[in-house]
Amino acid sequence: MSMRRSIAILGSTGSIGRSTLAVIALHPQAFKVAVLGAFSSWQVIVEQAKEFHPEFVVLVDEEAAAKARAALRDCGSATQVESGERALSSAVSAANVHMVMAAIVGAAGLQPTLAAVRAGKRVLLANKEALVMTGRLLMDEVRRAGAELIPIDSEHNAIFQCMPAGYLPGDPARGVTRVILTASGGPFRSTAAAKMAHVTPDEACAHPKWKMGRKISVDSATLMNKGLEVIEATLLFGLHESQVDVVVHPQSVVHSLVEYADGSMLAQLGAPDMRTPIAQALAWPERIASGVQSLDLLAIGQLGFEPPDHVRFPSLTLARAAARAGGTAPTVLNAANEVAVQAFLDRRLNFVGISTVIDKVLQRLNASPVKALGDVLDADAAARRLANTFIEPAHGAFA
Ligand code: NAD
Ligand code: MG
Repeated sequence: MSMRRSIAILGSTGSIGRSTLAVIALHPQAFKVAVLGAFSSWQVIVEQAKEFHPEFVVLVDEEAAAKARAALRDCGSATQVESGERALSSAVSAANVHMVMAAIVGAAGLQPTLAAVRAGKRVLLANKEALVMTGRLLMDEVRRAGAELIPIDSEHNAIFQCMPAGYLPGDPARGVTRVILTASGGPFRSTAAAKMAHVTPDEACAHPKWKMGRKISVDSATLMNKGLEVIEATLLFGLHESQVDVVVHPQSVVHSLVEYADGSMLAQLGAPDMRTPIAQALAWPERIASGVQSLDLLAIGQLGFEPPDHVRFPSLTLARAAARAGGTAPTVLNAANEVAVQAFLDRRLNFVGISTVIDKVLQRLNASPVKALGDVLDADAAARRLANTFIEPAHGAFA
């Protein structure tokens, strides 16, 4: 690449953040880390700062930021440490930042992701919740600011790679009739319905194909991850919900497909390793090494495809209904899901209860139109409040 490109990594201490740094470490002459941001994992971010020498480290948590500041000062680092949510948004908007990896988990990533879009950056979007909750609003901002939006989610990155030249984010591409998202099926693909209420957080987070953060791992176990991805695909590729199909593909080799009017289907294949989509997005339209081994087709031998089970996994149906309802429905779905997943991880809700809570919240809060960001934030807050009323309080909450 001709010029050294400077990148801000939001969520650098997480699974996607660490994979991003692993790819960048292979190409020190092509990329420079300008900003590392996370919530509170100060030891991890200090180690990252010592290796990559960013101008700024941002930790949302103030105490953690103070510890990181002291640790970096002690080793003579020139990196400045900031704290607070706002600092994330201003750091990604700086003029010398070319690209922003949006890899904070959940709605917490919305403001800095939006800031990066508004500043017209190349945004590498892993934080699907930020897109699902804001819908067209975020896509309109991309257009208005002339930002680039490259999906990191492996399925959407696969589709992006299979789109015709000249595809614009949010626009229906010519000749595309349908996209097909593949799903691994998660850890409970063949678990009996009667057992599902009793599965533990650790079982839910033991994904057969991908190593990911705990929230998205639970989403993969309920198939809500695929539901969020259906909504994500409608927005990124300008498709109706009915044009986004889901097939279970346990090998996780085909990462998704695009169907064209002439009967062609294009697919992207690769090992299930996020460094591939990350490298694709960092270098696009060029190609660089990611550190991922190419596939051995003979060793794989067979590829299987089966329909998703909507009875054991009602979340996919809930997400499709929210996609069709539009407006604030996806915002409500996402917020209720975040609250329910956290409650499941804290053992205040059982696995089956996750989709029950989301269903109740969606039934009680009617979808209303989204005209401004305030509509999104209000719906998000209302859905969180209501979801909590359906969940047992944490121990000691009434003490
Ligand atoms: P993770 O839990 O491993 O990491 C989350 C990161 O976000 C951490 O750096 C954490 O410090 C930061 N963070 C959490 N809350 C924050 C807050 N309130 N403010 C600021 N920072 C905060 O999660 P992950 O698996 O890396 O996933 C990140 C995002 O990427 C999610 O939206 C997920 O859906 C998406 N994604 C992940 C994968 C994957 O393979 N891990 C694949 C596709 C999409
Ligand atoms: Mg995915």
